Parts: sequence; C-alpha cells; structure tokens
Amino acid sequence: MGASVNPAYRGRIAPSPTGQLHLGHARTFWVAHERAKARGGTLILRNEDLDRDRVRPEFVTAFLEDLRWFGIQWQEGPDCGGPQAPYSQSERRSEYQSIFEVLRSTGWLFPCTCSRKDIQSAVAAPHAADDEPIYPGTCRHRSATEITPGRPVSWRFRVPEGVPEGQVLSWIDGGQGPQSWVAGRDFGDFVVLRPDGVPSYQLACVTDDHAMGITEVVRGADLLVSTARQLLLYRALGWTVPDFFHCPLMTDEQGVRLAKRHAALSLRALRDQGRSPAELRESWK
Ligand code: GLU
Repeated sequence: MGASVNPAYRGRIAPSPTGQLHLGHARTFWVAHERAKARGGTLILRNEDLDRDRVRPEFVTAFLEDLRWFGIQWQEGPDCGGPQAPYSQSERRSEYQSIFEVLRSTGWLFPCTCSRKDIQSAVAAPHAADDEPIYPGTCRHRSATEITPGRPVSWRFRVPEGVPEGQVLSWIDGGQGPQSWVAGRDFGDFVVLRPDGVPSYQLACVTDDHAMGITEVVRGADLLVSTARQLLLYRALGWTVPDFFHCPLMTDEQGVRLAKRHAALSLRALRDQGRSPAELRESWK
C-alpha cells in the first residue's frame, strides 16, 4: 500500500521558463516537495510562462527534466494533467481576465499612463535593489472609467491608505517567522495588468493559487514583499489566505544571490559535472 494521501494539503512549485534552474531553485522546490510529502499532500507544478518576451519553450522541457532528475515528484502539472488543468499560465488568460474584471468593477484598480521613466524620475530614491520603486501616485485618483480610448494603460491596484502609515500586512511565516509589511511605505500601488494586456505575476499567482486550492505557498524570500501585495488581493477578493513558507536565498561564494546568470550553478551544469542530487542536497545542510 502506498503512503496515504492527505487531500487537505496542496502545495506547489512554480518555475518560470526564462532560463535554466539553478541550485537556489532546487532548494526551494525541494523544500516544497518535502513539505507536501511529509504531510501526505499533493504537489502541483505550475508553469509560469506569461512573460512572452522572456519565456522560451525549451526551458519548459529543461525544467521538467531537471526537476525529475533532482528527484522532485508532483501529482498535477502540465505534463501529467489534473483536476485544475491547464497548468501553464499562458493557457489560463481567461481566468485572469475575469478576476481582473472583478477587481476593476469593485473599484480597487485605476488606469495608469505613467511610463517606467516617469516613475523613476518621480521617486526620490530607488527602493530595495530588486524590487520596483514605490509608485508616486500620479494616476491613483483616476476612476476606472477615466481612460482615453486608444491610449495604452496599465491597471494598478490602489493600496489602502491607512493612518498614519498605511495598512499593515502581517503573517507568521513558516520559514522566516513573524512578518509585517506596510502598504504605501514598503510597496506602493502595483500593476495587475500591463499595457499589452498581460496580467502581472501578482494577479496570475493569486488567481491560480486560489483556483488550484493551494493551502501552503513555499517560495524564495525575495518574494516576501510580493506576498504582502498578494495578501491585499486575497482581502479584496474575499478569498481564504494560504499559509506561507519563504525559503532563504542561496548566494554564491561572493555573497551574491544566485540568479539565472550563474550558469555554472545551473542544475544542468552540475549534472554534466557528474554531481548527484544527493550530494547537492548534502551540500546545503
Ligand atoms: N515563477 C516564480 C519564480 O520563478 C515563482 C513565484 C512563486 O513561487 O510564487 O520566481
């Protein structure tokens, strides 16, 4: 008899096919895999292939192969199907569109015509190195109907303005402990739909995690502030919030966070060098 399945726990791994997976991804995905397995739960693989400019289909083939080689097993995904199919975001555009309409019709969104340059020059100092600058508020008082036909707009979520400091988003993170982020101070009005009609990561991720019945989100600690943004979307939509577990980020020998440009630490390169998954897992203990 196989291990019993706990239908209550649903976790996911969500690679983006924009480059080769590296050791940092492997560690986060391994944690997700282990947590689902320990709870007799289900692990879902979601292909986050929305960013048409950066996505390449060969990276989907590559991540499927690399994850399997590493020993990660999932029960639902683009390769094996499942009750919440499709599992590739590029095939779920109508879902995002309908949630976008809900948010727009309930007054959470405003149309924004600011360019990246407008925003950069309006903010005094860049925020966290790898996060977007805080939106200066130029278009935030526009209503959803105030759009000039033919002019491309992005749609932003108007983060609640609290007194004195904005709305506090708090949760107990499984990996990083108590978290507290302030809307308007730590992050500003964020994009949910780009001018080219592509939904943002925040909108797509929350829509999918809800639709796929995810009970715990395991992801890298670089996404803590995104989690805070996403909590506002859950609140606005009246949806149950999953648990969160943020994994520490992996750095190279110089202390620089691993990124897709660290080709030497891609799973593929490590495999070609003859390293085994067990040995790699041993190295991060
Ligand atoms: N697709 C995202 C990434 O590769 C993961 C996002 C998430 O886990 O929510 O960084």
